[in-house]
Amino acid sequence: MAAVERILILGAGFGGLELASGLSETLGGDVDVTLIDKSDSFVFGYSKLDVMFGRTTLDAVELPYREIAKPGVRFAQETVTAIDPAARRVTTDAGNHDADILVVALGADYDFDATPGLAEFGNEFYSVEGAERLAAILPGFARGHAIVGVCGAPFKCPPAPSEAALLLHEDLTARGVRDACEISIVIPFGTPVPPSPDTSAALVEAFAERGIEFVSGRRVASVEPGRAVLDDGSQLPFDLFLGVPKHRAPDVVLASGMAEDGYVPVDSKTLQTAFPGVYAIGDVASIGVPKAGVFAEGAARIVADSVVATVRGGDQPRPYDGRGSCYIEFGAGRVGRVDVDFLSGPKPTGTFREPSAALVAEKHEFGSSRGARWFGR
Ligand SMILES: Cc1cc2nc3c(=O)[nH]c(=O)nc-3n(C[C@H](O)[C@H](O)[C@H](O)COP(=O)(O)OP(=O)(O)OC[C@H]3O[C@@H](n4cnc5c(N)ncnc54)[C@H](O)[C@@H]3O)c2cc1C
Repeated sequence: MAAVERILILGAGFGGLELASGLSETLGGDVDVTLIDKSDSFVFGYSKLDVMFGRTTLDAVELPYREIAKPGVRFAQETVTAIDPAARRVTTDAGNHDADILVVALGADYDFDATPGLAEFGNEFYSVEGAERLAAILPGFARGHAIVGVCGAPFKCPPAPSEAALLLHEDLTARGVRDACEISIVIPFGTPVPPSPDTSAALVEAFAERGIEFVSGRRVASVEPGRAVLDDGSQLPFDLFLGVPKHRAPDVVLASGMAEDGYVPVDSKTLQTAFPGVYAIGDVASIGVPKAGVFAEGAARIVADSVVATVRGGDQPRPYDGRGSCYIEFGAGRVGRVDVDFLSGPKPTGTFREPSAALVAEKHEFGSSRGARWFGR
């Protein structure tokens, strides 16, 4: 490969931010890193739950990209409109970018049309806008049946629907209306967190203790006024529907010819795509790990090491191991943790850490350390 001078990162989410930070830390101004995102700020996925349940406001959890001040890194607020992976040329609403190394970290988008009626008759809490809308709706819900329903797999952060159901229970209890309400959760898997039987057992027990109905192995196929239709044709009446929309790679990625079966295939050890000098990390890639920020971040670290080895010479990095820890809100001020390992052994494994107040502090530290590393806060 010719000298590497221009590195283009598409998407300033978990993966893109970690990669830009890692490259700046090691290479400083030796290379030009351009980080592109259509938004003006980053929001942690879990902050959407906090916004939805009125625990914070959107303003308080937005991390503005204008605060990024890293040697060698330029942030550009632009929308990517075309990607030519063979030429490593990207078109945005502001012009063209050519790259020596291109990293696609555009995440997963939501496919609302895949679930008829979801947009008209339901609500979703996976986008910032959806979480904000629900923050206005939830205080008025005091009677009837609420469903937390997943419309398709894979979906981001597999524990998040379970967290939503447990936090809804906490919210209704605090408002003194829990006895007038029912809560059901519909998940397409047999258990809430399939790689970790201990975590799943703890969540199923928490549902039972709180009188939350757990409907496993089913997805919501469509939403009609006042009822959800599941993929086996059965129906669940509701007064409030909290949905997880079906996910898919962003349209610009699908149109680029990089995707197969909806996402970008990569070498699971190196995150390289089929196109020389082009990587894909995070939710947009398919490598057999869940769609979660910690995995996007882990993949970004491997790509950062690989780019540094290419620029400076030296050994290629250790292979990506698919390890990560996710925090799980159980409500009532308690947070659990699941440590998962997807790629280093013959099959995925997960270890559960019991909910505790100590893990609340650890989760807070997780967020604030990223804020400091990525945004200098
Ligand atoms: C409710 C909820 C709770 C969650 N909780 C957790 C958790 O506790 N722990 C955890 O690890 N993960 C959690 N997640 C998942 C986590 O948010 C995602 O998996 C993670 O953000 C993926 O990182 P990424 O870099 O692949 O993509 P993203 O962080 O989604 O970043 C992609 C970026 O690309 C940009 N983009 C997309 N298209 C374009 C375009 N055409 N032009 C320009 N920019 C574009 C977007 O604006 C976005 O900033 C949660 C998610 C949700 C919804």
